[in-house]
Amino acid sequence: MVVELKNIHKWFGDLHVLKGIDLTIRENEVVVIIGPSGSGKSTLLRCINFLEIPQKGSISMNGRVIHAKKHDINAVRRDVGMVFQHFHLFPHKTVLGNVIEGPTQVKGIPKAKAEKEGLELLEKVGLSDKAEAYPSMLSGGQKQRVAIARALSMNPGVMLFDEPTSALDPELVGEVINVMADLAKDGMTMAVVTHEIWFAKEAAHRVVVMDEGQIIEEGPPEVIFSDPKEERTRQFLQQVM
Ligand code: ADP
Ligand code: MG
Repeated sequence: MVVELKNIHKWFGDLHVLKGIDLTIRENEVVVIIGPSGSGKSTLLRCINFLEIPQKGSISMNGRVIHAKKHDINAVRRDVGMVFQHFHLFPHKTVLGNVIEGPTQVKGIPKAKAEKEGLELLEKVGLSDKAEAYPSMLSGGQKQRVAIARALSMNPGVMLFDEPTSALDPELVGEVINVMADLAKDGMTMAVVTHEIWFAKEAAHRVVVMDEGQIIEEGPPEVIFSDPKEERTRQFLQQVM
C-alpha cells in the first residue's frame, strides 16, 4: 500500500499541531518517525486512519484520495492496522477471541476460519501457547504482541505503530521490537513512532524527524543518526541515543 499525505494541517482549537505535512509511505517501506514530545507524531499517525480529521490537505491510499465520510473512513480503518502505546485489548475475551474479533465482526469471516488464521498469527508473534489465556494473565510485552496479531488479523495494507514499547518494562521491549522487525522483513508497509533507535537502524528505510508540527528533515537512518543536518535533530538525538 502507498500512503500519500499532502500539505496536512491539523488544529486543536487555536493550537496548530500539524503545519503542512508532506509524506509518502511507499509500498513495503518502513518509515520511522522521531521527534520531541508534543511535536505532533501521534496526531499525524491518527490522521492516517482518520482517528483525527485534518482540516486541510489530502490523504490518498494507493492513489485514491480518501474523503472524511463514513463509508471511506470505515474502509480505511479496515485497511490500516494501528498499534498504540497502551494495548486496548478486550479484557473479557481470550487472546484468540481478541484476535478474531475484527475478522468475524467486521469482515464476517466464519469463526472456524478466523480461528485458524488467528492461531497462525499468534504463532508469528510467538504466543501460540497463550491462545486461551486472558489479557490480565499476560505481561506487557505479550499483550502488545497480541495487539499486533489483532491488527494483522484484518490483513491491513499498512501498519501504524505509536510508541508501542514506551509503556513496557525495559526487559520486555526486545520481544516486541523483534516481532516488528520480522514484519518489516516480510515487506509490511509500516510507519513507526519510536525512540528505539536500534529498531530504526535495523529496520527503517527512512527516518523522518518532526518538530513543532513540521518535518524538519528526513533521510536514511545511517545519515540521520550519524550526520543530521539540523541542529534540532542533533539536540533531540542527544537525549535519546
Ligand atoms: P507527540 O505524539 O509528538 O508527543 P501529539 O501529536 O500527541 O505529539 O501532540 C501534539 C500537540 O497537540 C500537543 O501540544 C498536544 O498537547 C496537542 N494535542 C494532541 N491531541 C489533542 C487533543 N485531542 N486536543 C487538544 N490538543 C491535543
Ligand atoms: Mg505521541
